[in-house]
Amino acid sequence: MQRALVVSIHDVAPSTRKSVEKILAELRRHQVSACSLLVVPDYHRQGRSLADPSFRSWLQEMDASGHEIVIHGFFHQRARRNDESARDKLVTRFYTADEGEFFDLGYADALRLIREARQEFESHGLSPHGFIAPAWLLGAEAERAAIAAGMSYTTTLRTVRDFVAGQTFTSQSLVYSVRSAWRRTMSLAWNRTLFRRLASNPLLRLGIHPPDIAHRAIWRQIGKIIDVTLRDRQSLTYRDWLRQESEFSNQKSAMM
Ligand SMILES: [Zn+2]
Repeated sequence: MQRALVVSIHDVAPSTRKSVEKILAELRRHQVSACSLLVVPDYHRQGRSLADPSFRSWLQEMDASGHEIVIHGFFHQRARRNDESARDKLVTRFYTADEGEFFDLGYADALRLIREARQEFESHGLSPHGFIAPAWLLGAEAERAAIAAGMSYTTTLRTVRDFVAGQTFTSQSLVYSVRSAWRRTMSLAWNRTLFRRLASNPLLRLGIHPPDIAHRAIWRQIGKIIDVTLRDRQSLTYRDWLRQESEFSNQKSAMM
């Protein structure tokens, strides 16, 4: 089984497209030409992403050139509730800044939103396989809904879950928090350590957010990690990595 690097770009929408294009150009310079693009159907209720003709044709172009289109939440925003526990508050406000949309969404609401997103993407010739919740917070009900809506995988901070094969792969994603100077400093130290810890994991995951590109120290580390990684790993999208994984396990079981 070949060692792999999956780079994903989160929060792709018309309002972040400029940064995403910069990120993609930078990634190409580091020999990463296929990413998983996590597209928000209606980012912060600014309007349907795919209703924007120029964004739509750009996305179709990205899809045709080997990038993967993934559904990333729906509004990427979670309404606060009155009955939240201290833990709920901690997770949804401090950790994710109110972005944990699918953290505690009920089955019916989650199913409706994921179905709607999928149909909309498909009506424009895009066929997403993956559903990834904002901040990777996918509650149990919402996960059941993703499966019922026909999605074939999801990822969390620490895992990749193949719904079709019923398998969970453990690999914690590298990810940066750039909202303040102390978070950036912590992020650089944390990701350096995590990168070392993941050296023997067959899958390395790198999650990039649009604001990351504006911070030189962050970007320098991302570039270095990619350069080192690609000496003995192949850069793939989640979809292609999962396909390769299932072919590999089929071959293995055929040999036994
Ligand atoms: Zn996101």
